[in-house]
Amino acid sequence: MKFEFVKKLDNSNIANTYARFDVAIEKGNGSLLYDTDGNEYIDFTSGIGVNSFGACDKKWQSAVIRQVKTLSHISNLYYTLPQTKLAKMICEKVEMDKVFFANSGAEANEGAIKCARKYSFDKYGDKRFEIITLVNSFHGRTIATLTATGQDSFHKYFGPFLDGFKYAKPNDTEDLKKQLSKKTCAIMIELVQGEGGVVPLDTKYIKEIAEICEKNDILLIVDEVQTGNGRTGYLYSYMAYGIKPDIVTTAKGLAGGLPFGAVIIGEKCKNTFDYGAHGSTFGGNPIAAAGALSIFSRLDENFLKEVKEKEKIIYSVLGDCKNVKDITGMGLMIGIELKKKDAKEVLKECINKRLLVLTAKEKIRLLPPLNIDRKTLEIGLNILKEVIDK
Ligand SMILES: *Cc1c(COP(=O)(O)O)cnc(C)c1O
Repeated sequence: MKFEFVKKLDNSNIANTYARFDVAIEKGNGSLLYDTDGNEYIDFTSGIGVNSFGACDKKWQSAVIRQVKTLSHISNLYYTLPQTKLAKMICEKVEMDKVFFANSGAEANEGAIKCARKYSFDKYGDKRFEIITLVNSFHGRTIATLTATGQDSFHKYFGPFLDGFKYAKPNDTEDLKKQLSKKTCAIMIELVQGEGGVVPLDTKYIKEIAEICEKNDILLIVDEVQTGNGRTGYLYSYMAYGIKPDIVTTAKGLAGGLPFGAVIIGEKCKNTFDYGAHGSTFGGNPIAAAGALSIFSRLDENFLKEVKEKEKIIYSVLGDCKNVKDITGMGLMIGIELKKKDAKEVLKECINKRLLVLTAKEKIRLLPPLNIDRKTLEIGLNILKEVIDK
């Protein structure tokens, strides 16, 4: 009853950009969610990798509420405590120099693109502006980040797109070298292509990219919007690859459920963004920053170790499904390639069994809350296993 009412209202006044499933989620508690009819679901989605500590995490909640009662917003014309503390914590942890705060992944990537182009402009003039991204990447939905996204299906309707983007085949250093020129100012990559189907890139290839960048003063931008903030069992996924990016972007899980994004800037371009070069009305908002502080401060070694342990559980439970062809991904960012079943069908059957999962391309994708307890994880995995093998 209640659901049909919500659905009807939604369909009449909200733009039809989302193919929603027939569920209206009303509330949540950790890794459990409840729909408008009172049904309970195990959550293997965390939004889309957003609710790092699940729904309504108590510590996060009190940090956010405290901030709501103190100061909800003030312009970036004034200093504020939460974003200052957060920037310090991030810079110390990743050993980088500066942070620019935005409100989403696309905005963080816009910031990185601007930073890279200005770095090159300041040093080499206006003819060195090209950015190489990878085929099958996803970087966002604004015009610049759509252009950066290396998938043809995103390059329609909204043209003309931006000049100065090139696409290289992933894991193919020779192809990357073909795209390089005197005009190249940056290479922007995800290390595990998320929307592209949870595809981790080869370490050797990534190290070669890092070398090429270093040698030619090309900035290496790593898009950690989805992979960041503990999601892969590392604070940022680049740490698993043994490289040092010049710019790291992040968003999704950073503020545990509030809209937030960050451009984290290393030594080379720490002074590129100078007065007036970039800005945002909401970026660094005190409430979102307080939420992020609560999340980020808890992503310590022990916590990350537990994420990796839960990765092992997933691989071991699903590893012996007869209809699973391959499992990819790191930490709690997992892709499952199926033998004969369609991922969308599996997803819908899971909903009927009160388990929420995602898809990415033709795979099932799992992004459970990072703090999901092992028992709930195992119950959810057994439901998934049953559906996959049915
Ligand atoms: C989700 C995502 C984005 C876009 O983030 P929004 O917050 O939706 O703008 C960009 N890059 C990657 C890798 C993502 O997964």
